[in-house]
Amino acid sequence: PEETSQIQLERIKGFVTDRGGKACHTSIIARTLEIPAVQGLEHATRIIHNDDLIIVDGTEGVVIVHPTEQTLIEFEERQGRYEYQKSALTRGSEQPAATLDGIRIRVMGNIELPEEVVSVLKYGGEGVGLYRSEFQYMGRPDFPTEFELFDKYKDVIEVMTPNPVTIRTLDINGDKAIASSAEQDEANPALGLRGIRWCLKRPDVFQTHLRAILKAAVFGKVRVMFPMISTYEELIEAKRNLDEAAESLEKEGAAFNRDIEIGILIEVPSAVIMADLLAREVDLFSIGTNDLIQYSLAIDRSNKSVTHLFQPLDPAVIRLLKMVTDVGRNQGIKIFMCGEMAAYPIHMPILLGLGLDELSMNPQAIPAVKNMIRKINVQDVRQFMPKVLEQKTANDVFNLIRDTYGDLLIT
Ligand code: PEP
Ligand code: MG
Repeated sequence: PEETSQIQLERIKGFVTDRGGKACHTSIIARTLEIPAVQGLEHATRIIHNDDLIIVDGTEGVVIVHPTEQTLIEFEERQGRYEYQKSALTRGSEQPAATLDGIRIRVMGNIELPEEVVSVLKYGGEGVGLYRSEFQYMGRPDFPTEFELFDKYKDVIEVMTPNPVTIRTLDINGDKAIASSAEQDEANPALGLRGIRWCLKRPDVFQTHLRAILKAAVFGKVRVMFPMISTYEELIEAKRNLDEAAESLEKEGAAFNRDIEIGILIEVPSAVIMADLLAREVDLFSIGTNDLIQYSLAIDRSNKSVTHLFQPLDPAVIRLLKMVTDVGRNQGIKIFMCGEMAAYPIHMPILLGLGLDELSMNPQAIPAVKNMIRKINVQDVRQFMPKVLEQKTANDVFNLIRDTYGDLLIT
């Protein structure tokens, strides 16, 4: 992921890798940067040589080495059609999305780097629903200073104002190890010192980060969100750190804004189980399906051998989502989704049926998602949910959505 985030877009037309899967951060960044990519090919580096001509079809997940003249022409035409459809869909995407029965759903963009706000605006994102702030810590031997962080956050917040910017606090490690972190020898990094666990072990780094966020929050609407919360104590500790950062700024007489919404990512099954108690401590939940799927179905999101099992529509995943949205409704807190599951129009009948309030995704997915939302009647998809919850397999759920709402998917 670190290398992908530093790709020089004017020189790199696409990439393929031997390792990785569709849900890993390398794929997610490739989508945000709109670089065609195919991952997990296993033998690509052995088969492809320097100066070989290759076609990288990121939509279908196909790589063709030494294409014939005929294949090249065919793919150039396909690329043209793809660009045309995309620009047709993007027209009007700056308009808000409301369902047929008038329910307004805010659709926002996920970013890794400050420059990506341009894409969020271009595709009609109404704010940043997930700012993966750890990418500013990558590709360097040291930690960024408070001023460097503040400066970048301020830029993003000012561009987005009056729309919100949701800064997810550092989610270091897992598949996002950074040079300045020493925990590189973990046998199971996804289950290791990752996210909030790492920050609570490094209060010095966490304080710098939180202070920068609070200072930048003066310039617009900011939400702060803690990742990988798996216990109640972690949330209390994280909030205590935020208070401490505010107190230190207060003492110094620095300008800051503590009046910000606080949320957590719901991405570990224990957080779903504890959701009723966690909800009392926060303003919002944002469901991180990339990790929630990884941790609930026990599927390493970066492992190409199990990428076919990474199924957002798995009935177990849908039941977890139902538990979270029920808690949200009962306790009156907002429930968002910022995992990649939110990026697919076919998932909308379920996500709106469950009553999600906001969605955030890789920016280029926004137009198609808004387009789908506009064709849905919320009353109708609510009544559809009991049927969904009776299904036994991801395939059954998929077929049920396709048979019921397939017509809406044709643009
Ligand atoms: C998620 O886990 O769904 C999420 C949004 O966070 P990330 O993909 O950065 O782990
Ligand atoms: Mg996550």
